[in-house]
Amino acid sequence: MSARLLDGTAVGAAIREELRPRVAAFTARAGRPPGLGIVLVGTHPPSEIYVRNKLKSAAEIGCRAELIRLPETASLHDVLDAVQALNADASFDGILVQDPLPSGMGPGASQAVFDTIDPAKDVDGFTPVNAGRLSQGRAILAPCTPSGVIALLTRAGIPMAGAHAVVIGRSDIVGKPMALLLLQEHATVTICHSRTRDLPSITRQADILVAAVGRTAFVTPEHVKPGGTVVDVGINRVTDAEHVARLFPEGSTRRADFAKRGSLVVGDVHPAVAGVAGALTPVPGGVGPLTIALLLQNTVAAAEARAGWSASH
Ligand code: NAP
Repeated sequence: MSARLLDGTAVGAAIREELRPRVAAFTARAGRPPGLGIVLVGTHPPSEIYVRNKLKSAAEIGCRAELIRLPETASLHDVLDAVQALNADASFDGILVQDPLPSGMGPGASQAVFDTIDPAKDVDGFTPVNAGRLSQGRAILAPCTPSGVIALLTRAGIPMAGAHAVVIGRSDIVGKPMALLLLQEHATVTICHSRTRDLPSITRQADILVAAVGRTAFVTPEHVKPGGTVVDVGINRVTDAEHVARLFPEGSTRRADFAKRGSLVVGDVHPAVAGVAGALTPVPGGVGPLTIALLLQNTVAAAEARAGWSASH
């Protein structure tokens, strides 16, 4: 058996296409396009790529996206000032501060940023107000990656109501909101983490297993219920040739990709899981493309809500 692959690239493209008329309607009515402000601190190479893709995707559907760059040496105060300026500027509907912030800013820096962003413009859904609204099942702006997972499962026809969903990971940005969104879809939800005892015995019960662990190929066939759906949220960069050789067979396209680039993005799910699961999100091309699509959806929803128009999704 080989799992059906859930195509996040196609679903992400469909969501972006569906946003075009909403962007056009907003622009015609408001006299300006929905505006997204992205704050990037320092020169973290993966962040540069993520931000470039976000700016390009926003422009493609007709939004105005602006990059506010701060140097690596910027203080937390400088970042909060940039956020406050975006809060005060009515032409911006969405604000995103690209993670991670430079480690020199200290462990509480991200939380301080989330505490400062105007909840009405919080397109990442990370502010305490929006986290609270999500827990009450009335979020307008929910975190993009878990919302993308729900969109993918819905459009792939994977039933969530009544299903046992197990989420590995309890971070504020993925694991916890993922569990809340699955609960909202009427799944029976179990959350696992690093202190969970006998993890495989729990994950093997999952009709839907979401891996948001941040550890390469962590979920192996012994974790998976035969025929279950496995969602791989992980993005891990592997640069060790022996590691790649252990994961992918000789002659596979992934090995060829590694030979060409010298690195490979691998998820939290081991490739052998494809032989056990009924459906699986690939990495790349699964959850990743949905994150940007849902960011744009949140930007449009924020623009509509700020203008006092009812959300149309
Ligand atoms: P994180 O903050 O590091 O959280 C990882 C979670 O995994 C924690 O809750 C941790 O438990 C749990 N964990 C670690 N080791 C474990 C073990 N041995 N057994 C069970 N649970 C374990 O990571 P994150 O920000 O949630 O991200 C998770 C992954 O998703 C990463 O690979 C990240 O790159 C990726 N990601 C992808 C996207 C996307 O667009 N596709 C977006 C965001 C993140 P404790 O809480 O007990 O420490």
